[in-house]
Amino acid sequence: MTDQNRDVVIVGAGPAGLAAAVYTGRALMKTTVLEKRVVGGQIIEAYDVDNYPGFADGVSGLELIDRMVAHAQKFDVEVVNSAADDVRLDGPMKRVQVGEDRYVAPIVIVASGAYHRRLAVPGESELSGRGVSYCATCDGPFFRDKKVVVVGGGDAALTEGVFLTRFASSVSLVHRRQGFRGRPAHVEEARANEKMEFVLDTVVTEVLGRERVDGVRLRNVKTDEESTFECDGVFVFIGHDPNTGYLKNVLPDCAGDVIPVDYNMETDVKGLYAIGDVRKGSYRQIGTAVGEGITAAMHAEQRIKDLLG
Ligand code: NAP
Repeated sequence: MTDQNRDVVIVGAGPAGLAAAVYTGRALMKTTVLEKRVVGGQIIEAYDVDNYPGFADGVSGLELIDRMVAHAQKFDVEVVNSAADDVRLDGPMKRVQVGEDRYVAPIVIVASGAYHRRLAVPGESELSGRGVSYCATCDGPFFRDKKVVVVGGGDAALTEGVFLTRFASSVSLVHRRQGFRGRPAHVEEARANEKMEFVLDTVVTEVLGRERVDGVRLRNVKTDEESTFECDGVFVFIGHDPNTGYLKNVLPDCAGDVIPVDYNMETDVKGLYAIGDVRKGSYRQIGTAVGEGITAAMHAEQRIKDLLG
C-alpha cells in the first residue's frame, strides 16, 4: 500500500467536481480527481443542454464535460479513473482508499453524484442493454421506427420521452399516478407531441422478452387490472440515488443518502465537502453543481490553512 500526498482529493468528475478542480488547481493546490466510471457522470448522457449560461444555442453534455476536463488539466489537475472505496479521518488529514493505494489530503470534496434508480422488476436486469435503457441519448438512435415505453413522471421522463420521438414510431409514457413531478412546460410539450401517449396510474411489473425486449407487463394501480403492452424498448427515468456508500466510516449517518452541508458546502467534518447531486437540497442542475464546486474550492483554500496551521 502506498500513500500519496495531495492538497485536495475530489471524488467524482462530473460538473461539480471538475469546477472545484479548476479552482483548486488554479490556486496551486495539488489536486487529484477520482472517477469510478465515465468522466462526466450523468451529464454525458444529455444530448442537448440548453440551460447552461453562455450556450444559448445549446451544447452537448459530452462537449461541455470535455471542455471542463481540459480546463482542469490546464491547471495540472490529475484525473484518475478509479473508485474511492473508503474515507477515514486521521487528525486533520483524510485518507481516501483507492484499491491498494491511499491518497492523504487535508481536503476531500465529495462530488460522486448519483446512480440511476432501477425498477427492480423481473426481466429488467436480464434485458438491460437489450432493449432496457437508462439513457435516451446513448440508445435512442437504436429505436428508429420502434415502439418504446418510457417509465417515470419527472422532468427526465418527459424531456427524454420527447427526445425519443425523434427516432421511435411511438413513445408511451407509463407513470404511476395522474400528476407529474416534472415542470408544467415539459408536461405540455410532451402532451402536444403526437407521437407520445400517456399510460397513467400504471406501473411496469415485468419486462418481457427472451433475447430482446418484446413488451412489458403493466398493472393499473387503481383497478389492479393487469395487461401486456408490446414494445421494443423500455427507457427507465425514475430518479437517482446518491453515491455515498463509501463514506460510511467518515459520515456514518449519511452513507447511502444525501449529505447535509453548510452554506460553504462543508459537512460536519472540517475539510470534507459535498457538492452536486450528493448534497442534501441540491437543485441537480449543471449550473448549480458548478457553483457548489467553486464555493467548496474557495472555502477549502481558507480551510487548509486552519487545518495545517
Ligand atoms: P424525479 O424528479 O425524482 O422524478 C422521478 C419520477 O419517477 C417521479 O415521477 C416518480 O414518481 C417516478 N418514480 C420513482 N420511483 C419509481 C418507481 N419505483 N416506479 C415507478 N415510478 C417511479 O427524477 P428526474 O426526472 O430524474 O429528475 C431529477 C432532477 O433533475 C429534477 O430536479 C429535475 O427537475 C431535473 N431535471 C431537469 C431537466 C430539465 O430541466 N431539462 C431534465 C431532467 C431532469 P412520483 O412522482 O409518483 O414520485
